[in-house]
Amino acid sequence: MCGIVGYVGCKEATPVLINTLKKLEYRGYDSAGIAVMNDDEILVRKAKGALKVLEEMVVKEVIKGSIGIGHTRWATHGEPSDINAHPHTNVSGSIAIVHNGIVENYAKLKEQLQAQGIVFKSQTDTEVIAHLVNFFYEQTNDIFEAVKLALKKLEGSYALGVICKDYPDRIIAARKDSPLIVGLGKGENFIASDVPAVLEYTREVYFLDQKELAVVYSDHVDLFTEDGEKIIKEPFHVDWDMASAEKGGYAHFMLKEIYEQPKALRDTLHPRLVLEGNKPVDIKFDEMDFSSIFKNVERIIITACGTAYHAGVAARYIFEEFARVPVVVDVASEFRYRNPIISNKDVVIIISQSGETADTLAALRLAKEAGAQVVAITNCVGSTASREADKVIYTWAGPEIAVASTKAYTTQLMCLCLLALKMAYSRNTISKPEYEKLLSSLNEVPEKVEQVLKDQSIVQKFASQNFNKSKVFYIGRLIDSASSLESALKLKEVSYMHSEAFAAGELKHGPIALIDTDTLVVGIATQKALYEKINSNMEEVKSRGAATLIIGQGDTSVFNGSADTVITVPETEGMFAAIVSIIPVQLFAYYCSVLKGNNPDKPRNLAKSVTVE
Ligand code: GLU
Repeated sequence: MCGIVGYVGCKEATPVLINTLKKLEYRGYDSAGIAVMNDDEILVRKAKGALKVLEEMVVKEVIKGSIGIGHTRWATHGEPSDINAHPHTNVSGSIAIVHNGIVENYAKLKEQLQAQGIVFKSQTDTEVIAHLVNFFYEQTNDIFEAVKLALKKLEGSYALGVICKDYPDRIIAARKDSPLIVGLGKGENFIASDVPAVLEYTREVYFLDQKELAVVYSDHVDLFTEDGEKIIKEPFHVDWDMASAEKGGYAHFMLKEIYEQPKALRDTLHPRLVLEGNKPVDIKFDEMDFSSIFKNVERIIITACGTAYHAGVAARYIFEEFARVPVVVDVASEFRYRNPIISNKDVVIIISQSGETADTLAALRLAKEAGAQVVAITNCVGSTASREADKVIYTWAGPEIAVASTKAYTTQLMCLCLLALKMAYSRNTISKPEYEKLLSSLNEVPEKVEQVLKDQSIVQKFASQNFNKSKVFYIGRLIDSASSLESALKLKEVSYMHSEAFAAGELKHGPIALIDTDTLVVGIATQKALYEKINSNMEEVKSRGAATLIIGQGDTSVFNGSADTVITVPETEGMFAAIVSIIPVQLFAYYCSVLKGNNPDKPRNLAKSVTVE
């Protein structure tokens, strides 16, 4: 999530901060701000919206000073607004901070700080850090010690830049889980979330490792462990070009976002798990209480568009299996025009990455008017969906730049799994031991996704053998048929190959007529009880000349005869396997796109956020 920068040198800091922030715009953001040390005070300027708004502000009213920090915010806690934009300060304004990441225990820390009489200005989780640093600064009178002690109190992720009026020659920086680099110039030094921000000024950088701190002066930089022990490391010389740097070394955003999924899934899951020791025992949704929704629900209606709709189709199996509530799934553009039957016993779940999808918002409004409770699942804080729904569950996927959704999809599934499990437990359709067992399995999903991503050479090879096929069919049973829909969509979006999805049993009721030697059939098989059934379907298409691929889990030996290639993903509890088994098909779509010479990040005719009907 978004960008932080900092500058210490002899130039005017403001233009450097704006310039370096511009290089981080690709990461997506909703507001921006800077803090500059101006003689003996820190001046803060911040504004909602594009960086241009901030730039106009500081051009009109120049702030002088050669040390400063800057931020582009992608809101997680508190809507995008001038007040919630970073930097945030302590009460007196003598300490300013910028932060990327999420303070998972912010509510508890905020309560403790409020009990000391501190009045918060913003709704962000970040503001607690400013007051916490101030608290330790009052005790130690040493800003480095104060930051170090404050960090020990934080749970969650952070990349941090701190300036203090009493130390007008330095920036304190630190990171855990969110990226941060230090750029080493001549008589000037920088901090930034990512290398492209500083490439115009220097190619020598330190990559801060987990829990490391840096004290950045104009003429040198000191690095420390979380306990304050000095670290010596060699700077890294960057020789990539700008374009690849923005993608963190990945050839495309789509690939980068596929690889970001373990982190996105952890960010979405971890803040919601209540732990006893290391064991997850319950789910809490931020500060939101769902009990009224769970108590009265008689039916769930899920409505969304495109990939988000497929997350809904998958969720039908998950809710019905665990919570035993009937589920209806509909594409939002149909739902809104078919005069749907909705009652106040219905819970309507709408899913939209941007929270601005026009058809989905229309469905949301229709559902509310009809008296249903509406839950929105979205990736964007402050979006229309998040404001208008009764309850919101955020996917903490971070900004998704590639048009074809990958990490938003898997984090949507993660939120839906959490909601289904919490609902099931609240309605007594699963026992406490079952609940805890399922939570432990869900908790292992990010690591399993990581394992799949470790070796993608088999997918790459298979793509190079099959990207010229004129038809691709995805088949699966139960929740795997939902994954098939998403797989076919992903492939057509980025490779323009003709692809369709069928519930495997439907094949012989028509589509089998299309099978010939120019067809690839991909079977998604995570439901062990149905392996024999899907194996027969694969035999049927293979004997008619199709090339075949199985994506399965556990013991997949049954497919050895029917599939040309078998990709075995780590074994995962039945329903949650949908998150793990989608990874190879995302990669397959990506590689087919590249092999065909397309730009997977910007497929023809498609837009990222569909805000028109
Ligand atoms: N959690 C912080 C906020 O919502 C930081 C978000 C970011 O990384 O931009 O303000």
